Amino acid sequence: MKVKVIGAGLAGCECALALARHGHLVELCEMRPAKSTAAHQTSNLGELVCSNSFRSAAITNAVGLLKAEMKMLGSAVIACAEGARVPAGDAFAVDRERFAAEMTRTVESAPGIRLHREEVTSLDRGDYDFLVVATGPLTSEPLFHTIDEFLGRDGLYFYDAIAPIVAADSLDMSKLYWKSRYGKGDGSDYLNAPMSQEEYEAFVSALLSAELYPLHDFEHAVHFEGCLPVEEIASRGIETLRFGPMKPVGLEHPVTGERPHAVVQLRKEDLSDEYFNLVGFQTKMKVPEQKRVMQMIPGLENCSFARFGSMHRNTFINGPKHLRPTFQTKADDRIFFAGQITGVEGYVESSAVGLLVARYIDEIARSGSATPLPYHTALGALGRHVSESSPERYQPSNVTWGLIADVVGRVKKIEKRERQVAAAMQTISELGKIGG
Ligand SMILES: Cc1cc2nc3c(=O)[nH]c(=O)nc-3n(C[C@H](O)[C@H](O)[C@H](O)COP(=O)(O)OP(=O)(O)OC[C@H]3O[C@@H](n4cnc5c(N)ncnc54)[C@H](O)[C@@H]3O)c2cc1C
Repeated sequence: MKVKVIGAGLAGCECALALARHGHLVELCEMRPAKSTAAHQTSNLGELVCSNSFRSAAITNAVGLLKAEMKMLGSAVIACAEGARVPAGDAFAVDRERFAAEMTRTVESAPGIRLHREEVTSLDRGDYDFLVVATGPLTSEPLFHTIDEFLGRDGLYFYDAIAPIVAADSLDMSKLYWKSRYGKGDGSDYLNAPMSQEEYEAFVSALLSAELYPLHDFEHAVHFEGCLPVEEIASRGIETLRFGPMKPVGLEHPVTGERPHAVVQLRKEDLSDEYFNLVGFQTKMKVPEQKRVMQMIPGLENCSFARFGSMHRNTFINGPKHLRPTFQTKADDRIFFAGQITGVEGYVESSAVGLLVARYIDEIARSGSATPLPYHTALGALGRHVSESSPERYQPSNVTWGLIADVVGRVKKIEKRERQVAAAMQTISELGKIGG
């Protein structure tokens, strides 16, 4: 088969290399160095734009499991990362330059891959059998508009506002109560943290004095009104949050009937009961400050964070609206999206989607259709996230245990993770090595 892959970042390179190992012919198009992004600094392929960390090496951590599964399926990114690994305690960190140099060498020497250094602005497949769009969070503007057209101007975003996520088992439930605003729904989607006037005023004052990450030049200085950082809302006046995300109306206490002065709502993450999102709390606060300020919320004093809030430039499509679990677009099953643009987040997850897309294309080439990997694997969970999350609330996500389907049931957490890992690894080993 002939496949055109647009973007030679982590996902594009991983995808191209896996396809080439299967004997497919790949045209890989990368716009750098002629045109760069605001974050890339070199012309190397697979450049890591920021930290040098592939995060936890522990297999009982969801991202650790993801890396182990990728390795089992022959991931080139993991192989290059292992070659460039540097000591970093429990984390899997690499020498960024060595890593990208090795990725570049591997792609350039791969039989079956033709690398073109050119910007692509069209989604025309021409005489290619498949097209893979892997242009990442900083997709060039002309292509952004083409993708927007292709999706019917419905569901392509370029700004990412993320609220923190906290673990359910770290919450003090004696201070929280279940209730949807005005009692709508079955009442089990939202937990509410009520605040007295004194608590609210202390909280707003902490928000206003918190240290923020500076704006980078690749970020938009102006935020959409719909996703303002919580500290910016607070800066508009002491009462503004009480009329915004912390509005207490319709959230009277179900037992006492009292209306609190203000309320923080925690919403169940789409696919799990283990994690809660702080509604409307997207933030640019530095991580230690987020911890300090959010732990002032009643019931969250000892909360552990599954993800911290953040805001940055990030092109991603509304996966649940437009993608199948195989990352094919619903509009054209020969056009795939891969990498961070699908709404996964992070180096490892983006590379993983590149690997998955190669696998699915190869499967289609051989048998006419592709079967998504089971959702109890970390790889399969990424497809679940992009295709089965709520389209109304779709936000980019790292891989978490909340996304990975539970095949174990109620047992102690440590034992549960071990058994989930064993089940996932067993499944992946049965699927065999891509190109192996
Ligand atoms: C500022 C910033 C900091 C980040 N920090 C981290 C971090 O510390 N850790 C982490 O895990 N993740 C981080 N991320 C997320 C990170 O970018 C992704 O996890 C990962 O790089 C995504 O891989 P990708 O292959 O999807 O996209 P990329 O790696 O960005 O690759 C996309 C490639 O497509 C090319 N391209 C774009 N448009 C076109 C076009 N029209 N034609 C041809 N080529 C094109 C780009 O030049 C690029 O090489 C950060 C993102 C940003 C923007």
